[in-house]
Amino acid sequence: MTIIRKAAVIGSGVMGSGIAAHLANVGIPVLLLDIVPSQLLTQETAAGLTLDHPKVRNRFADQAIDKLKKTNPAPLYSEDFAARITAGNLEDDVSKLAGVDWIIEVIVENLQAKQQLISRIEKVWKQGTIVSSNTSGISINAMVESASDEFKRHFLGTHFFNPPRYMKLVEVIPNEATDPAIVAFMKDFCAKKLGKGVVQAKDTPNFIGNRIGTYGLLVTLREMIAGGYSVEEVDAVTGPAMGRPKSATFRTLDLVGLDTFVHVANNVFDLVTDPEEKDMFRSPELLKLMVEKGWIGEKRGQGFYKKVTSDAGKEIQSLNIATMEYGVSRKISSASLEAAKQAKGTVGKLKALLGAKDRYSDLAWNILKPVLLYSAEKLDEIADSIVEIDHALKWGFNWDLGPFETWDAIGLKRSVERMESEGSTVPAWVKAWIDSGHDSFYENRGGQHFYYLKNEFKGIETRPELISLQSLKQQNKVIRWNSGASLIDIGDGVACLEFHSPNNAIGADILTMIQQSADEVRSNYRGLVVANEGKNFCVGANVMLLLMEAQDGEWDEVDGIIRLFQNSMMKLKSLDKPVVAAPHKMTLGGGVEACMPADQTIFSAETYYGLVEAGVGLIPAGGGCKELALRASQAVRDPEVDLQPWINAIFETVAMAKVSTSGHDTKRLGYMRAQDRVVVNPDHRIYEAKQAVLRLEASGYTPQVQEKIRVVGENGKAVMQIAAYTMRQGGYISEHDQLIANKLAHVLAGGNVPAGTMVTEQYMLDLEREAFLSLCGEIKTQQRMQYMLSKGKALRN
Ligand code: NAD
Repeated sequence: MTIIRKAAVIGSGVMGSGIAAHLANVGIPVLLLDIVPSQLLTQETAAGLTLDHPKVRNRFADQAIDKLKKTNPAPLYSEDFAARITAGNLEDDVSKLAGVDWIIEVIVENLQAKQQLISRIEKVWKQGTIVSSNTSGISINAMVESASDEFKRHFLGTHFFNPPRYMKLVEVIPNEATDPAIVAFMKDFCAKKLGKGVVQAKDTPNFIGNRIGTYGLLVTLREMIAGGYSVEEVDAVTGPAMGRPKSATFRTLDLVGLDTFVHVANNVFDLVTDPEEKDMFRSPELLKLMVEKGWIGEKRGQGFYKKVTSDAGKEIQSLNIATMEYGVSRKISSASLEAAKQAKGTVGKLKALLGAKDRYSDLAWNILKPVLLYSAEKLDEIADSIVEIDHALKWGFNWDLGPFETWDAIGLKRSVERMESEGSTVPAWVKAWIDSGHDSFYENRGGQHFYYLKNEFKGIETRPELISLQSLKQQNKVIRWNSGASLIDIGDGVACLEFHSPNNAIGADILTMIQQSADEVRSNYRGLVVANEGKNFCVGANVMLLLMEAQDGEWDEVDGIIRLFQNSMMKLKSLDKPVVAAPHKMTLGGGVEACMPADQTIFSAETYYGLVEAGVGLIPAGGGCKELALRASQAVRDPEVDLQPWINAIFETVAMAKVSTSGHDTKRLGYMRAQDRVVVNPDHRIYEAKQAVLRLEASGYTPQVQEKIRVVGENGKAVMQIAAYTMRQGGYISEHDQLIANKLAHVLAGGNVPAGTMVTEQYMLDLEREAFLSLCGEIKTQQRMQYMLSKGKALRN
């Protein structure tokens, strides 16, 4: 049985270090190797080091590991995980490659260099070790041309996208001789262990994502030049208006680096033989000129955009491609763009944009048309099915819809008619498909999904780990529904409570559904999962609602909402069936409180979790303070042991509205309990939570019982309040921050009681509610709420 316990990454550049970090993220020790430097740095000479010194010899990998801790967004789930990476070099440490289970080549994109390295690896390679390349597009077969058959069986492409932690796509590319069992293993490993979206690609130039993606970017550049569009205009059209990321075309290119992009495009240019296709991959003169000038993007400070800092402040300028001068970036608007902005969902946006008939809808169509046609033309050559192509563009380029999904969205038959009327040649298989009576490449039959495969619809294969609430809803598995939340039967006697209000903000509808779910599960189910498929798990309580009530002085209403919140959480907590929460992405304020009553939390690796109420001038009052105080009291059961340090840590976390940078990082903030877990693949979170429910039930579930909480009382409160006072005196926090901190201290300390007093959960909830209500009456708190609602960020008044 293949198991990857240790890995080696060769090449510690942008991608090598990022891949090493991600392996470290999932607990795999990594050896990171690079070449030995040929010259000393001034500081090395000054320190008396010579070229033989290990510090110098490992310099590249060492520096790469250091950089990982400073890079933003963080490549590591937790800075501590850097310790799982060991630096080395390719001269002194090659023999260590015999001791790892997977070797990944991530050096310069050059066939000869890769071949040379691979033959060096083969000399120390031991049977069973998997070897792969992260090449962006060089032939996998060519790399192992002169390797032994046995080595070839163990060799394949594993193409990660940048940055490896955050980009979902990994293309797995077998060579002609790769053992199918190894291909299957790597696909499973990359999905389950590394949390990636895996696409199997054929060994063709640039594989799938970079073949179609590069084509699309080149088409866009050509259309811009031909149609006289500006950089801002193209970005206004090719961003969210078309279901693409905000970085659209040119901020993406600036980020990737124009030099890298030209290199990737040239690879296809060099390798394809069809003159028309070759021509499409010829980089425009504009790009070549920019590369010559060194205007290659962010790494050199300028590309299509340039950040300029002057006395007047920071300004983003954009390149005028006619004059090759930078000028102030213009905001673009038009009826078509506005229509797309207003439209709901990507399908709606595309239809609105393309239907508007102005110069921006023309641009969108002129970019889309060739990309759809090219994807269809290349289908058989590059992929096994349309699904791989769609996944590659969604996961590797952050498109909302892949090419074939886009085609369905804009109407297959209608758009093909338009293409033909404009003189385009549509691939025969597409025509034949339409002629046989079809108007889409995908079909959803009551939650069962089908896709086009060789002239028929084939069911999309799925894995048990992929539980889709959306599909289950289409299969009539909804047990209860209201406007903010649903309870869904996810099989095996487990129900899932799904939030689906705007931004998944918690209001009365969700709270009511929580109570109803508890009743339903108590009578009819084995346990409950709290999870959803929103962009974020939950951004908190509905601040708009609170603000309105507070501004109108409806204190009874506010009190009622908080009571409902607290009671709902208590009901969930006292349920006599297991409850498992599975938060993902932003889980803030009330979102955290909705997870806290659960017996177990399965955090997605990408979870940004924190009680951030202070940011809107409040304190947690849905049981958040009470739960944290309870956990501290449970952690320090011995009455002789000082509780204060625990409470101080909680105080700091909540007063400063700290948010975790990953699921693992919740541990640093004290949110992760011993029984909590992290799931790396976000698509598996509901399944993992369901399994946890079943495990808890099977092992004879004991419901949570209410217990008394030992509190630090008046003395402890004073300690926290002195800390807040000092912060205020130092000018670190505002007067209002101090007021909030004082109220928080009061609640966390258990109010005005002697240290060591044992209080009930309800007593703590009452303290929370009281403090919350009084803060709601503060004008500065209302200003904070208003600011958050209009600007989406915290006001520090
Ligand atoms: P990079 O230039 O940042 O890093 C390359 C590293 O390899 C450097 O640390 C260098 O010292 C080392 N190196 C160079 N030649 C070597 C040799 N002969 N032996 C050993 N080490 C050597 O490059 P990168 O962007 O990390 O790209 C590495 C690979 O990943 C390339 O094949 C590239 O096509 C591919 N890739 C890059 C990206 C990306 O966005 N940058 C994305 C996917 C794949």
